[in-house]
Amino acid sequence: MKPRIKRMIADIESEVAFTRHFIGKNKLAPEVMTAMRNTPREEFVPPELQAYAYDNGALPIGQGQTISQPYIVALMTDLLQPHKDDKVLEVGTGSGYQTAVLSQLVTMVYTIEVIKELAEAAAERLQRLHYTNIVARIGNGYHGWPEHAPYDGIIVTAAASHIPQALIEQLKPGGRLVIPIGLPYMRQELMLIEKDDENNTHVKDILGVAFVPLQEEDTEGVGDEATS
Ligand code: SAH
Repeated sequence: MKPRIKRMIADIESEVAFTRHFIGKNKLAPEVMTAMRNTPREEFVPPELQAYAYDNGALPIGQGQTISQPYIVALMTDLLQPHKDDKVLEVGTGSGYQTAVLSQLVTMVYTIEVIKELAEAAAERLQRLHYTNIVARIGNGYHGWPEHAPYDGIIVTAAASHIPQALIEQLKPGGRLVIPIGLPYMRQELMLIEKDDENNTHVKDILGVAFVPLQEEDTEGVGDEATS
């Protein structure tokens, strides 16, 4: 393993241990850590930030958006409890890094991004890196992606003011939704929402986090579906 990837993995492990009382565990699932180890984060950060590609922090990716901190990506992936037969929806493709991590753990990832430039760059990048089980589109994921619902898991990588009803509806019984909830640019709470077999939902607060805001109002210009 390259030294800087090794360091990133060690940083994630120590932050997991440090936050164990919040997240209720000492270690994340080994499959999740393997996916983190095997995802070339340097491909997802801008050229001028290459030196920081494996630092355990968020980085700007243009358009006022960020690639999330590796620890948070690993934690959110772990909270989804991904299984190899799962179909997962990601809201907020951004760089495509979280998408790439997930794609190694489940059968299909649907990912939606509201900013056209980011959506197009991520789709091109994921294709170039040969991730084949990802379907990406431009659009407002506040409404989910009903055409492919229901999902085993939904992950939202931008902060919402409340839990979007459409996302609850698009979750399978037994499914899990991971989403930061709170005020824009303030501290938010990462939440895990589980839908049981009777379609009742159970909400758990996991950890204080800081995400860019989820766009909640409707936008024009929903684009085409692009498969990578
Ligand atoms: N998962 C990304 C994180 C990107 S930051 C990564 O690993 O790089 C969050 C992203 O959510 C931003 O790109 C932002 O444009 C996008 N976003 C915000 N509101 C959205 C919405 N309603 N639908 C889809 N994407 C949205």
